[in-house]
Amino acid sequence: MIETHEFSKFVRQPLFMSSREENVLCELCPNNCVIKSGHFGSCGVRGNKGGKGIIPFYGFISALAIDPIEKKPLYHFKPRTKILSLGFAGCNLHCPFCQNWHISQNTDISGKWMQPGEIISAALKQDTPSIAYTYSEPLVHIEYVLDCMVLARKHGIANVLVTNGCIKPEAAAEILKLTDAANVDLKTFSQETYKKTLNGDLQTVMDFIALCHKTGVHVEVTTLVVPDLNDSNGELSKAADFIASVSKEIPWHLTAYHPDYRWNAPPTDKDFLLNAAKEAEKKLTFVHTGNIGFMPL
Ligand code: SF4
Ligand code: SF4
Repeated sequence: MIETHEFSKFVRQPLFMSSREENVLCELCPNNCVIKSGHFGSCGVRGNKGGKGIIPFYGFISALAIDPIEKKPLYHFKPRTKILSLGFAGCNLHCPFCQNWHISQNTDISGKWMQPGEIISAALKQDTPSIAYTYSEPLVHIEYVLDCMVLARKHGIANVLVTNGCIKPEAAAEILKLTDAANVDLKTFSQETYKKTLNGDLQTVMDFIALCHKTGVHVEVTTLVVPDLNDSNGELSKAADFIASVSKEIPWHLTAYHPDYRWNAPPTDKDFLLNAAKEAEKKLTFVHTGNIGFMPL
């Protein structure tokens, strides 16, 4: 039932939600949730109150920090600059290895309410040339992200999305008009794993990556290499083929996993990761490994 954060201080009409008698249909992502009155959709943040779509988390910020842009990770967009990074609550995917599960899979969390203008003021004050919408999934808060992005553009600040890329084409087209750079997770190259284990959709993510490239958004792709989930060489090889089919110049980050949330497999083997990167370099110009410092030597 809707209780937590029911009273956002800010009012905003939801996008991609429509009433169906007492239910609400949300068509933002491929989940296409039919939400009963008094409940939220699968992301936990888009709800139905009295037969009307509501976004009571509009303006709820779970984390605000200044990061090096390389931490997003983005290695080929405004390198060696700082970026104002904001996080939200909830996610439309439910990855059992989520490293931000405390904010992505739980909405009863502490944070603060900030209008888009306050975010832009913070970026101007800190003199960061970009803002990242990141940490949990920003796109389930598309209304807020769009509002921030419009203001950021007006002030010459670049917009960076760090996303699972799992939103439908109409919403993707809207957000990418205002996006300068994106890091998109390509979590696995198996539709079955996307569907059964993550609650996502491979084709939607592939389309999102391709659309980023087509619309001139600087795009980098990240794959967290998770043992027993996506680490078969065949799968990583197919993922590299797909990225290369969009553009060989798209940077691919292969990052090491460590046990978190509900996934207990041992951390990614360092040699395996380095070897996977070496193989990928045969197909792509820029392949980067990450989180390698966390690995047992
Ligand atoms: S954004 Fe949320 S409510 Fe909308 S379809 Fe996706 S999971 Fe469901
Ligand atoms: S998409 Fe990202 S934030 Fe969402 S559950 Fe998966 S790892 Fe966590």
